[in-house]
Amino acid sequence: MSKAEELSKKLSYQRKNFWKETSKKERKTAFDFSEKYKIFLDECKTERETIEFYKNELVKREFLEINKDKKSKNIYRISRNKNAAIAVIGKKPVSEGVNIVVSHIDAPRVDLKQNPLYEDKTTNLGLMKTHYYGGIKKYQWMSTPLAIHGVFIKENGDVIDVSIGEDDNDPVFVMPDLLPHLARKEQYTKKLGDAIEAGKMNLMFNSIPYPDEDVKEAVKLNALILLNEKYNIIEENFLSAELELVPAGKARDACIDKSMVLGYGQDDRICAYTSAQAIFDAEINIGRTAIVYLADKEEIGSEGNTGAKSIFIIDFIADLLKHNGEPFDSVTLRKTLINSQVLSADVNAAINPNFPNVHEKENAVHLGFGVSLTKFTGSGGKSSSNDANAEFNSKIIKIFNKEKVNWQTGELGKVDEGGGGTIAKFMAEYGAEVIDCGPGILGMHSLYELSSKADIYSSYKAYKVFFENA
Ligand code: MN
Ligand code: MN
Repeated sequence: MSKAEELSKKLSYQRKNFWKETSKKERKTAFDFSEKYKIFLDECKTERETIEFYKNELVKREFLEINKDKKSKNIYRISRNKNAAIAVIGKKPVSEGVNIVVSHIDAPRVDLKQNPLYEDKTTNLGLMKTHYYGGIKKYQWMSTPLAIHGVFIKENGDVIDVSIGEDDNDPVFVMPDLLPHLARKEQYTKKLGDAIEAGKMNLMFNSIPYPDEDVKEAVKLNALILLNEKYNIIEENFLSAELELVPAGKARDACIDKSMVLGYGQDDRICAYTSAQAIFDAEINIGRTAIVYLADKEEIGSEGNTGAKSIFIIDFIADLLKHNGEPFDSVTLRKTLINSQVLSADVNAAINPNFPNVHEKENAVHLGFGVSLTKFTGSGGKSSSNDANAEFNSKIIKIFNKEKVNWQTGELGKVDEGGGGTIAKFMAEYGAEVIDCGPGILGMHSLYELSSKADIYSSYKAYKVFFENA
């Protein structure tokens, strides 16, 4: 190595390619880690299914529900079947501050409307009206196989789980797009975002009419009969139901070297899975209490009583103080929050080789170069961003370097290109130190998001060493 090369190596920052920098053993571990992750993605296509998955996992791992009589170091709380907090109590008092990794378990999708079912007069076909959830490119959801997931609630409170379209014997559903031959005026003259109107995103549901010629809307009636036979519901049950359309099918390995995972809902279940796995695997005698917070409704602004703006996590931390035999008055709670450290675990946009010009190469996330630390999000002049403090940023980098986590710095896109936010700013409102930390992905919010096994594994490792060392 020449003197100049030596100096350059010593002095300049270079993001490191996971596949080049790590041992053969660690690369295999990264591959193995993604096998279970793909199964998780297949089982957890909605926030409710994710919570159900962890409910089983927590019982299996002998975690106890908080506020039950029994004491344990491993506790959790599930709220309204849509969000959860998992905690491992450390050696230090909770009031000295906790370490939280927060992710979100909702993903962009298309919901059924409350009164969805209708018979189209022109075609005599049975259809369902929809209402999209979160920031989707509507055209991506047309002419692609969809599954229906969700719940009906019966008058007696019984919850009826619905999942149609995942089993090989299940039918799938589709919102048919217009053929290119006749799209000249209807679509091609319009802007991409306007080419599909929300009102045209209707789901094909059935086509065989009830075999009595006198009855009105015989196709719709047949749909109701089929639903009644399958779920014992009537049309009114739709009005309170939560039914979500998601891409049908399984997560898959992608690329000839199988280095990537292609699947739905990786924003942000990639962080949910890696953080939960991190708290389960973290060494037993951690110093600070560790919390994994799985929040709902990030994609619509963290609203609602299951979103990160709700009181849920604060209430959980108050109960942790109590559970640990510490004072839990409002001042102690406030100080606990101010002394806490948070990794806002959400995906970032890795440079897409098809559209590199929306990124600024030196500061953007590169796929396969490890977990990304994102100091700020927001848009324009860092508007609506948390903007992590340099001291905290540096502390996390020091831990990652010491524990050999493959990491990189990454901002979302070019400064004036657009932008986006995460849960970080809501956690920062309580006074805690917060920084965004998660993997970059390609095709974010599309039906099939692409992630690197290097970054999935690096995220897991990052969250684990955060719990063990921060
Ligand atoms: Mn996200
Ligand atoms: Mn998102």
